[in-house]
Amino acid sequence: MQFTNPDENDNSNIEDRRGGGGRKVAIGGIGTIVVVIIALLMGKNPMQMLNQVNNVVPQQTQQSDQPYQESAEEKNERVLAENVFRSCKTVWQQQFGQWNKTFQSPNLLMYTGSEQTACGEGSSAMGPFYCPGDEKIYLDLSFFQELESKFNASGDFARAYVVAHEFGHHIQNLLGFSNKLDAARGKVSEKEYNRLSVKLELQADFLAGYWAHYAKTLQKNGIVINESDVESALNAATQIGDDMLQKKAQGYTVPDAFTHGTSAQRVFWFKKGLTSGDINQGDTFNDPSL
Ligand SMILES: [Zn+2]
Repeated sequence: MQFTNPDENDNSNIEDRRGGGGRKVAIGGIGTIVVVIIALLMGKNPMQMLNQVNNVVPQQTQQSDQPYQESAEEKNERVLAENVFRSCKTVWQQQFGQWNKTFQSPNLLMYTGSEQTACGEGSSAMGPFYCPGDEKIYLDLSFFQELESKFNASGDFARAYVVAHEFGHHIQNLLGFSNKLDAARGKVSEKEYNRLSVKLELQADFLAGYWAHYAKTLQKNGIVINESDVESALNAATQIGDDMLQKKAQGYTVPDAFTHGTSAQRVFWFKKGLTSGDINQGDTFNDPSL
């Protein structure tokens, strides 16, 4: 995977809080979480997650004026994340323009360890996530290594897929899909809630594929994707399917507890976005098979 003319000087909407060097963030206390959904990439139940978030005592982030000292490896990871993010911005800006809709970019916030968010205290253990309350994608770059070591998902494009998936959650937020899940919270059974969560997550996978479809033809912030890149994204989608994760964790699967979809479903929807480039084909909410 290679980027074509990435605008590496464009740091708008990018926040680097690694090493706790950021400003202190005042949020309205842990009781007032305005989160619609913490859309996690990994197979965790967002409701359980929220409860955990609620119970965490917020810590002060350290003040420091020193920029984070990154290793060469970390620099590569950061540049990749930023380039994918810029590319997502360019693609979605263009698409929204064609639909005569207003596009508003999310922020990419890179942090280490833990970070205050409008959705409560975020931590690296949660994996990358998007918080609709502040419209930010929270990413601890160490997740990229975990992808490889814990989830057997290697390759740049596997990493790109992660960023594009979280960006997809922002698109869902702008298009109003996240509301469907929010409206159901507390009103439906856990089983039904999980079913809706699967639809939302698979749609984010579709939107990640959709990004790649259009990023290939961009003059600026575009990407060159080869066959092995597609393989590495599909492998990543396979490795983080609910069935795969559950089997690894407990030796068996509990389909009612699925929140992100099976490996096969995640691969299917990512591929659909990638090959079709047709937004109308990504309506997981009206797909009777889900
Ligand atoms: Zn997700």
